[in-house]
Amino acid sequence: MRSSRYVRILLTLTLVLAGAVVTVGPAAPGAQGATCYTWYRTLRPGMTGSDVAELQIRVAGWAGYGVNIAIDGSYGSLTTEAVRGFQRAYGLNPDGVAGSLTFSKIYSLQKADCSPLHFSWTEVSNNCGRGLNSNGSVPLAEVKENLKRVMWRAEALRHQLGDTPITVTSGFRDKACDGYPYGQHTYGKALDLVRVQSIADLCVVARQARSAGAGGLFGPGYPDHNDHVHFDIRAGRVWSAPTCGITS
Ligand SMILES: [Zn+2]
Repeated sequence: MRSSRYVRILLTLTLVLAGAVVTVGPAAPGAQGATCYTWYRTLRPGMTGSDVAELQIRVAGWAGYGVNIAIDGSYGSLTTEAVRGFQRAYGLNPDGVAGSLTFSKIYSLQKADCSPLHFSWTEVSNNCGRGLNSNGSVPLAEVKENLKRVMWRAEALRHQLGDTPITVTSGFRDKACDGYPYGQHTYGKALDLVRVQSIADLCVVARQARSAGAGGLFGPGYPDHNDHVHFDIRAGRVWSAPTCGITS
């Protein structure tokens, strides 16, 4: 009687502890990723929609050298190439069609808060970004959307560089704090990246960034850019890192 009560208590305790572990332990990345955004249909060339745009945001760093795809919700040839590039990079069949395997891989790379696996809202909004608590000149929703987009390209860049860690020294900067108000940073469109603190290594980052969807790209040799690579998602292309042989 007494021992069976102990057994029951022990069982209850075990279940409670197990429950606690399930509750507080980190969920699998895949589950978290689906919490951020979930796709409900296979996406193919020719399709349009907001789900296509959400896909474009996450594969934009894989469209190839010099390609800065528009996030327009239209699954055209550049999006197809970007999906192929993503699939190739992560060991999937590069058919250019985004189905469940492609979405599963994306889920595994994004966190529940919609930041990609190796970057965080905190690191892209510290200091002048005031932790995204600023009511600066640009609406925060717009800033966050832009930051999400540039982080995904940085995630692609990081993978292209062999999964070596990249540090963001500055991302969003509110207008009052930024020395260059209304630059790309005030919109959340730019990240200043550092991998290893040497100009030679910054050039490795800068050169590769040309194949990760960079719109604006400034690095060693460009004024005030000898200690980081500025990487942004403006439309079009403005590149300058003369020390690295990048002039346009
Ligand atoms: Zn910058």
